[in-house]
Amino acid sequence: MVEKKKIQIPRGLKDVLPEEQKYWFHLENNFYDVAAMAGFDRIILPTFEFTELFKRSVGELTDIVSKEMYSFKDRSGHNVTLRPEGTAGVARAYIEHGMHTLPQPVKLYYFGPMFRYDRPQAGRYREFYQYGLEILGEDDPIADAILIQTAVRFYQKLGLTDFVVKINSLGSDKSKNKMVAVLAKFLNEHKSDLCSDCKLRMRKNPLRVMDCKIAGCKALLDSASSILIDSLDEESKKRFTKVLEHLDEMKVEYELDPTLVRGLDYYTHTLFEVVLKGSDLAICGGGRYDNLIKQLGGPITPAIGFAGGVERTIEALKTQEAIVPDPVKAELFIVQLGERAKSKAADLFEKFDTANFRVASSMGRGNIQSQLSEANKLNCPLVIIIGDQEVHDKNVIVRDMKDRSQETVIDRDVIKIVSRKLEEKGIRIS
Ligand code: AMP
Repeated sequence: MVEKKKIQIPRGLKDVLPEEQKYWFHLENNFYDVAAMAGFDRIILPTFEFTELFKRSVGELTDIVSKEMYSFKDRSGHNVTLRPEGTAGVARAYIEHGMHTLPQPVKLYYFGPMFRYDRPQAGRYREFYQYGLEILGEDDPIADAILIQTAVRFYQKLGLTDFVVKINSLGSDKSKNKMVAVLAKFLNEHKSDLCSDCKLRMRKNPLRVMDCKIAGCKALLDSASSILIDSLDEESKKRFTKVLEHLDEMKVEYELDPTLVRGLDYYTHTLFEVVLKGSDLAICGGGRYDNLIKQLGGPITPAIGFAGGVERTIEALKTQEAIVPDPVKAELFIVQLGERAKSKAADLFEKFDTANFRVASSMGRGNIQSQLSEANKLNCPLVIIIGDQEVHDKNVIVRDMKDRSQETVIDRDVIKIVSRKLEEKGIRIS
C-alpha cells in the first residue's frame, strides 16, 4: 500500500498545545484586568478588511504593505487582506460607528491574531497574536504617559522584570517631514556604508533604514542621533518634554532613543517600544497617530496606541522564569466513595453550583486515588471527600490539595468553611 504523505502545518504557523495554555491564560487574564482597570473597553474586530484600509493607514511603502500582506480577491472580486495589525481596524471602526460623538477619549482594547508574510525565525511568525490598547480623541501628553504606564503595569503584573521602555518623538507632521529630509541627506552622504537592503529602503522610505539590525548600519545611524533630535521643532520638543515629565511623575523609567522610528507611516510625535534587556526584539511597540482617522475619512482625531506580541511576551516570561500559575479550572472537587455517598455528593454538588462555585466531580467513577488525580488535573485547591461513614455521621472531609491536610466538617458548615478556605487562598466566589 502506498503511504499517504502527511499534511504538515504551513511554515511560520504554530499550534498552541494544552501544555502552553497556562501562559496564554496568564497573559490574557492579566491583560483584560489591567485594561479594564485603566478604563478601556473591549472591541472585537474582523480578521480581514478591504486591502485599501491597510494601504491608506500603514502606508504603501512600508514592508508590511509592500511585502508582508496576505491579500486575495474574494469570490465577489473584492480585494481583501488578513489584518497585519490592529490599529487600522480600530480607526475604521471608530469612524464607522461615529465614536467621535461619544464622550472623548474613547479607550479600546483588543486581542487577536494578525498575519504577516514575514521571514519565519525566532520570535517571528506568519500568524501571531497581538494585544493592544488605543486611546482615541485625546491629544494631551498625559494620554501618552498613561498609555505607557499601563503597558508597564501590565508587564509587571505578568511577572516580567528585565525590560526597558525606549521612547522617542517624530514630532508634528512638519517636523517629521524635516526629519525624513535630514535623514535622507545623511544617508545619501554615507550611502557606501549601508547594507544593500538599506540602500533600497533609503530611496523608498528613509525612516525604514532605522529599523535595520545590521551592525554597520546601526553604528552609522547611532551617529545620526543628534541631527535627528535637532530636526524636532520647538512645539514638538515642548510636547515631548511634557510626556517625559509625566512619566517621571509616574515613576515610569524609560530610555531616550533618538534612533527609534518604527516602520509604520501613520505615526507622529511620541513613539515607544518595550524591549527586553540584552535583546533586539521588542515585545510591544506603539505611538501617536494624530492624522490617521482623518486620513481614513473621519474627523480630526488625535490618538495613541500600542500593540504587543503574545508569543514574544510568553517567550520572555519563560526566559525570565517568571512565576506563571496553573489556571484553576475548578475551585472544588467532590470525591465520592460507595453507593450511599452518591446522592449526598449530588446534593452537595447542586448546592455549590447554585452558590456560584466552580465545582467538579467524576460522579463516583474510580477509587479515591483516581478521583484525586482528576482533581489535580483541574488544579483544584480543595477537595471534598464523602464515604459511607461521612453519610452516617452527617459530615464531609475537606482536603487541601496543596499541603494534603484534611479536616472533618459538619454538613451545615460545609459551604461556609470551604468559602473561608478558598478566600485564604486568594479565591473569592462572586
Ligand atoms: P508592530 O505592529 O510591528 O509594531 O509589532 C508589535 C509587536 O508585535 C512586536 O513588538 C512583536 O512583539 C509583535 N510582532 C510583530 N511581528 C511579529 C511576528 N511576525 N511574529 C511574532 N510577533 C510579532
